[in-house]
Parts: sequence; C-alpha cells; structure tokens
Amino acid sequence: MEKLKNYINGRWVESAADQSSSVVNPATQEVLGQVPLGIGTAKDLDEAVKHANEAYLEWRNVPVMQRVQPLYKLKALLEQNQEEISKIITLECGKTIVESRAELQRAIENVETACATPTLIQSEFSENIARGVDEFMIRQPLGVCVCIAPFNFPGMIPFWFLPYAIACGNSFILKPSEKVPLTMIKVFELMDNIGLPDGLVNLVHGGKETVDAMLEHPKVKAVSFVGSTNIARYIYSKGAANGKRVQAQGGAKNPVVIMPDADLDVTANIIADSVYGCAGQRCLAASNIITVGDDKGKIKESLYEAAKKKVTGFGLDEAVEMGPVISSQSKSRVEMLIEQGIGEGANLLLDGRGYQVSGYQKGNFIAPTILEGLPLGGELVKTEIFGPVMSLLSMKNIEQAISFINSNNYGNMACLFTSSGASARKFRNEADAGNIGINIGVAAPMAQFPFSGWNDSFFGDLHGQGRHGIEFFTQTKVVIERWPREWTRKF
Ligand code: NAD
Repeated sequence: MEKLKNYINGRWVESAADQSSSVVNPATQEVLGQVPLGIGTAKDLDEAVKHANEAYLEWRNVPVMQRVQPLYKLKALLEQNQEEISKIITLECGKTIVESRAELQRAIENVETACATPTLIQSEFSENIARGVDEFMIRQPLGVCVCIAPFNFPGMIPFWFLPYAIACGNSFILKPSEKVPLTMIKVFELMDNIGLPDGLVNLVHGGKETVDAMLEHPKVKAVSFVGSTNIARYIYSKGAANGKRVQAQGGAKNPVVIMPDADLDVTANIIADSVYGCAGQRCLAASNIITVGDDKGKIKESLYEAAKKKVTGFGLDEAVEMGPVISSQSKSRVEMLIEQGIGEGANLLLDGRGYQVSGYQKGNFIAPTILEGLPLGGELVKTEIFGPVMSLLSMKNIEQAISFINSNNYGNMACLFTSSGASARKFRNEADAGNIGINIGVAAPMAQFPFSGWNDSFFGDLHGQGRHGIEFFTQTKVVIERWPREWTRKF
C-alpha cells in the first residue's frame, strides 16, 4: 500500500519519510492506509513552512471580508460531503455514524463562527487620550500557525483552529493524528477547491519528529495542540521555550454529581450517553459518577439499566450506539485498568470485557462497564481511562462531592444533576473545572464559546473556538497618534 501524501503548497506530494505505520479500522483490523513517519517527515515540515510563510506574507494584506469568502465555500462543501466524511471518520476512528455526523456538524459550526471574523477582529479606539492625540489597537496575524491533533475527533478538532487562523490572516499547517489521517485528507481535497492561495493551508503527516520540527522551526509562530496531558505539557514547555505562542489542551477525568432531587429517568440516559459516547474516548467523557444520598440505590439501578441496554457494535450500523476503542493496545490498557479497579477494591457491577460482535470478531470492542465503590484515595479515580468504563461513587452531600472534584488534577468538565437552583449555583461557583454542565451530560461548548479546560486539562491562556480563537491567532498592536491642528492644510 502506498504511503499517504502530504498537501503542501496546493499540491499532493510524496513524503520524504523513511518509515510508515498502518492506519487500521478498529472494528475489523483492515489496513486503510500507510501514514508517513520518521526522520524524513521533518524535511516535509520544513518544506511546508517555507510555502506557508510565503503564502502568509501575501494573505495578511488581503481584506478580512475577502479572507472569509473561502470559508463560506468550505461550509457548503462540508455540508454536501457530510455523509462521506462521516463514513471515513467511522471507518478509521470506530465511533458510530451518528457520532461522526454530529462531530462534523461541530466542525461546520466553527467555520460559521469564523465567518464572523470581520466583526470579531474589530478593535478599540480612544479619541483624545491627550489633547490632539488618539490611541487605538490593531489585531494583526502572527504568521505560520500549526496544529497537532489527537485521534478521537478527526473531523472536528482541526476546525477549533483552522478557520479562525486563516480568517485572521495567518497560514496553517495541520498534523493529524497518525492513527486517523484519512478524514483530513478528504477535507483538504475539498479545501483545494475553495479559492485559497497555494501554501495557505497544508497537511503534513507524521508523529513525534514532525511535532518536534514544528516546535523548533523559527518561522512557526503559534502551536495549537490537543491530546493527552503529558504530551500537552511537553508541547507547552518546549513551544514556549522556543518563543512560540501555545495553546495545549490535555486529558481529563470528568465528574458528574447526581443529587437526590434530580429527575431520574432523564438523568440516567443522559449520563450513560456521556460515559459511553465514542466508547468513552472523549476528553469530555463523564467518568466519575457521584451519587449523593442514594441510600436506596435507585440512581444506581437506573444507571445500570441505561448502561446495559447500550448496543455495542460496528459504527456504520445505524442501530449501534457504541463502537470499538481505537486500537488493540488501547483495548488491553482499558481491560488492565478495569482489573486494577477490582484490585483496588471496586465491585465490578457490569463487565464489558470479552464482548464479541457477530461478524466483527477482530474488533477492539469493550461493552459498557461499571466499577462501583473505587476507593477515593486510590489511583483509578484519578486516572483517565479513555474507554467505556463508569466509576460509580457515592457521597454524603454536595460539599463532599465538590471537595473531591477539586482534589483532582484535571479540570476539563464537571456536571451536576439537580432540581435545586441553590445547589446548581453553588456547584457552578465552586467546582474547579473550565466547563460546567447543569442537568447537561456533555458540556461541550458551542463554537461561539471557548473550549475552556483548566488545570492539567489545559496549558496556556487562550482556548480554542470563538473569540479566544481570534485573540490567539492575532497579536495586538497599539498605536498612539498625534496630528497637530497646525498641520491641517488650508485649501
Ligand atoms: P496523544 O497525546 O497520544 O496524541 C496527540 C498528538 O500528539 C498526535 O498528533 C500525536 O502524533 C502527537 N504525539 C504523540 N506522542 C508524542 C510525543 N511523544 N511527542 C510529540 N508529539 C506526540 O493523544 P491521543 O491518544 O491521540 O488523544 C487522546 C487524548 O487527547 C486523551 O488524553 C484526551 O483526553 C485528549 N483530548 C483532549 C481534548 C481537550 O479538548 N482537552 C480533546 C480531545 C482529546
């Protein structure tokens, strides 16, 4: 199988890579492509930066209203090709077709939001800050911006950054996850037709070598990263040490608290979706489910029923509600963590290990699993499992739940289910997380809002999406101007 090509300077070109790795369908183990890896990929990156920088020097002077016109075309093309792209997402990533369609919808919403850049980029002007002196601020682009993406949302995550970066006048290089490079190949084929100048957007495959080349290249001005916390921390520190602007989104361990006054029927299904959506491979996956005052076990029973009825299988089957995890290594890791939970003293209320899907025996399937009563001082309540495993914990009151949440190193999302406004207000005020859900299981912010992780879930200042995107992809210039009255020409 031929190696996948890079898209550099408006052309599909061979990589200089000396190695490659297989892109594998997680439901069948079918090899879908060979992605370039290894030392040669640094050369590819260098080539892409050269052209991206040339494109940027022209593009920065194009009026912003013209810069967003290709985004309108991109929105239309993404909509027209939504089904085909969604199928590619499911085939290489494993999630259900319904999840893939929803993911792509989120990508489109970011394109739409970035179309408002002509307004969002407007700035401040103060007349007469001193007599006859005006002061104002301009937002100017940075130059070549790069994005390093994870495997779990191949269609959406690059769009937290790409449309804002180019609308603000920058050029862009994307390195997709080597596990799921095919979705963005399709998207870049579409982007070839939207009227962007050659070199403005580039797709460079690879792994660590490509990333390190990005972090070291003097012409790369900004780095947007999404992935696991250890790598996010590495990207942030190395990028910053090399003088780059960095936003690095990391991993998570998201808690959901269910108060005794929550509506049980609604709550259990929403929470099961939040735990098991994308087979638990979401940075916003609900993981620690904390019941408060559930002495009679009613909440536990509803959660068990909701989890048990989830249909696990091949993602292109419309009836399937949960697909496989990304790789056989990931499956083994999740199973090992379930074992660890039992070793720490948890009760395995629902065991999804060894689940077989008829016709897909080689798939990396794990059915919904529930571990009950993990010790609060143990390791697993703090570990991101990234698989379809609910940790069911029980606590006395909301104070204990908030204190437990705030003792966790991550801070991506925390949710509360209640019918009490006072509990909701306390929770939103005191819980230490950047995204809060109240009677909402998946607190994924819409494109107009920043994707606001905290603590070990985010390294940097400005997040992806919305106004934060505009601020991240521009640098401010403040101008103080004097035009003495006596210089006024008399005609
Ligand atoms: P990952 O950290 O393994 O990989 C992410 C990217 O980093 C990939 O492009 C990969 O090629 C690159 N990379 C991997 N190892 C590297 C290294 N040693 N040096 C330099 N680059 C390296 O993450 P993943 O497994 O693809 O994605 C899952 C993780 O991403 C989870 O932890 C999840 O919580 C997190 N995530 C976070 C968010 C968020 O918004 N906070 C969103 C999605 C996923």
